[in-house]
Amino acid sequence: MNIFDMTIHELHGALKGKQLSSLEATTALLKRIESVEPQIGSFITVTAEQALAAARSADQRIARGEGTPLTGIPLALKDIFLTEGVRTTCGSRILSNFIPPYSAASWEKLRDQGAVLLGKLNQDEFAMGSSNESSAYGITRNPWDTSRIPGGSSGGSAAAVAAGQAIATLGTDTGGSIRQPASHCGCVGLKPTYGRVSRYGVIAYASSLDQVGPLTRDVADCALMLEAVAGYDPKDSTSVDTPVPDYSAALTGGVKGLRIGLPKEYFIDGLDPDVQKAMTAAIDTFRRLGAEFVDISLPHTDYAVATYYLIATAEASSNLARYDGVRFGHRAQADNLLDMYTKSRSEGFGTEVKRRIMLGTYALSSGYYDAYYVKAQKVRTLIMNDFISAFTGVDVMLTPVAPTPAFKIGEKINDPLQMYLSDIFTIPVNLAGTCAMSLPAGFSAEGLPIGLQLIGKPFGEETILRAGYAFEQATEWHTRKATL
Ligand code: GLN
Repeated sequence: MNIFDMTIHELHGALKGKQLSSLEATTALLKRIESVEPQIGSFITVTAEQALAAARSADQRIARGEGTPLTGIPLALKDIFLTEGVRTTCGSRILSNFIPPYSAASWEKLRDQGAVLLGKLNQDEFAMGSSNESSAYGITRNPWDTSRIPGGSSGGSAAAVAAGQAIATLGTDTGGSIRQPASHCGCVGLKPTYGRVSRYGVIAYASSLDQVGPLTRDVADCALMLEAVAGYDPKDSTSVDTPVPDYSAALTGGVKGLRIGLPKEYFIDGLDPDVQKAMTAAIDTFRRLGAEFVDISLPHTDYAVATYYLIATAEASSNLARYDGVRFGHRAQADNLLDMYTKSRSEGFGTEVKRRIMLGTYALSSGYYDAYYVKAQKVRTLIMNDFISAFTGVDVMLTPVAPTPAFKIGEKINDPLQMYLSDIFTIPVNLAGTCAMSLPAGFSAEGLPIGLQLIGKPFGEETILRAGYAFEQATEWHTRKATL
């Protein structure tokens, strides 16, 4: 087996058993990055020197018998995570020269365990997008078919895992940005419950929706990564002070008697036939494993995309006000202060980001605030209530992640509305604030990965991990590799 194709738990076993060193593993990953990067474009920055140094000290730590499951494991981060001393761009030209003075809390936790940082991954600019085409640092290609998008906005995070360029990665999910790319690239991706993982040091897009989570090669790795990054952080006032379960221990017990809801609004006519087929097969598998299916309804689903695009853009317009060319980031030459602001922002932001700042500013402007922003907040509550009442009768929900497999590069970039609609099955989960996981559930006739989504109750990560693990044990989708 190629070192670069190993899972965290496999590599951990090899490091512990001294069959491999972290230095060897890190070197293998860096070589792989070099060889496939021209085809894929997952990385904005590769931190080779630092990675080798971190690998050496991880090896010493393992030799002292002080290793943990993540010690010496080569990982990579979406470029939205602040990394002290390492350039962090968030996919934007406006941050092309930004070197953060501190690190994101989630990365600090991984680093403290001795994880090795290979570099920073490509993404849609400020995490706004579903295709990775809005990055100022070039597109990322889907390792399964390089004429297609990897999904977004954590496209680099998913492509790197699928292409053997990192053992696992972290992404963020505001409206589907972990689950949709995971689905398109054949990885496991989990969006935790809002408040489960600290957002400290993660560049803010829409603060009431943003959440950090892992992209991995299997469910066991997903549990390991979540366990490592989850937990209360006094530096994030929205992080929740509830104990972190042993997620790896949840991966037993199967799904006998588990009640799985099928929301009728998610199994619609427009669904791609290959996606529909994969869902039907997955339902059969779960049934065979002893799960029970219940038809449910989330009646306000139709309003989710519109609600999301009011709330997310409103929050973004306010979060992105800080990029004014004064304190950090790109500064344009100008004769006076106002021109300097205008020019810096005009030059620094791309088209999609500008579109959203304008939409959000409009939704928040006096006279329109009640009609748009306040109304959207009310509809958000209705959507949340849909989930609360549906969850009184079921333990988890099963849905597709995206209506189609990965689309072609360029196919939707000039049609923002079509792009927005591709997130229809992931967005409601963020509005409701609960958790969900995408995992490999089949392939299209053209050989493109298809993911299924398991939605859990708030702080129900253990249940979706357990169900996902049972499904994974019964199928072989997660073992297939893209050929590069
Ligand atoms: N595609 C959605 C958007 O553009 C979701 C992005 C995300 O989750 N960061 O906003």
